[in-house]
Amino acid sequence: MQTKIVTAQDGLSLAKQYIFGGDVVAFHTETVYGLGADARSDEAVKRIFALKGRPSDNPLIAHIHAEFDLKTLIDGEPPYAEKLRKAFLPGPLTMVYPSNGKVSKYVSCGLKTLAVRVPASPTAQAFLRAVDIPIAAPSANLSGHVSPVTAQHVYRDFCGKIPLILDGGASSGGIESTVLDCTGEIPMILRAGLVTREMIASVAGACEVYHRKAGEAPKSPGMAHRHYAPRCRTACVSDAAEAIALYDREQEGGGSPVVLCESGLAAMFAPRRVLDVGGDGEEMARRLYALLREGEDTATLIVAVEPKARGGVMEGVLNRFSRAFGRNTDEA
Ligand code: AMP
Ligand code: MG
Repeated sequence: MQTKIVTAQDGLSLAKQYIFGGDVVAFHTETVYGLGADARSDEAVKRIFALKGRPSDNPLIAHIHAEFDLKTLIDGEPPYAEKLRKAFLPGPLTMVYPSNGKVSKYVSCGLKTLAVRVPASPTAQAFLRAVDIPIAAPSANLSGHVSPVTAQHVYRDFCGKIPLILDGGASSGGIESTVLDCTGEIPMILRAGLVTREMIASVAGACEVYHRKAGEAPKSPGMAHRHYAPRCRTACVSDAAEAIALYDREQEGGGSPVVLCESGLAAMFAPRRVLDVGGDGEEMARRLYALLREGEDTATLIVAVEPKARGGVMEGVLNRFSRAFGRNTDEA
């Protein structure tokens, strides 16, 4: 199969044809690229799992366009969720509701809830409007690999396996959406992202962050799986001296290491090779995945120095850091 990379302008009718034929199409969003299929079709949704090698207990997000009637997919909405929708959608926020069972049961992997997102990306909106159905989509990477933030990243993982990638350029957000459980009395963050706890609390009055208790089944099953891993060796350290020691040992052994660190530390590593992930949370989110892919293509070892800042967008960035570098946490 030939995999075409086209803009939404050129590819919409083709995308529609593939989706209604039960096929899978990758598309740009403002967070990461998605791998989408007709959420109403068991067979189409199962294709996504097969293509990604995704564990069958890790549910997908239903993507809809801004005018799509959310109420046709869910069974009730608390008042705070309506306020949050009005404040943050379209945007990088996924909201988990009680499902009314209208989409394929494979989307939610048997859970009684449905995760819904309205992406802001004009490419995603054009695609979702053209098909005018809910599109089930996880990130468009092979399961466990780094999420894609360009059409080329998607191509690397799915060349010859999917017919079409709707190219909208580099994803500006850079990390996956915030996943927010809206089934309880207070909204609860299941996966941190660009819509932060502080932003949610300022609209909803309160916001909790889910922490899995030992022995408990995760509330968002994706949390149980390792994610975002580059295909080279990695190490995560908290100080520069340790990073230098690991780097130099790798180089002396004939390897080609690279340091990944925040802008403020980059000069300390000269003349060693550095991937500068940025100076603030938004910048780190935007650059992280592209740099992990650059690292895996060009180095034998990525030595990451954990950023020091906390709170806001950094919660999402640090979560991706720890999962990419093997320091698994309980958050998604
Ligand atoms: P991905 O788009 O690849 O990042 O995967 C979707 C994420 O949304 C995963 O972390 C899932 O665990 C989460 N998710 C999807 N549906 C639900 C749901 N019904 N309840 C909780 N989390 C969900
Ligand atoms: Mg993913």
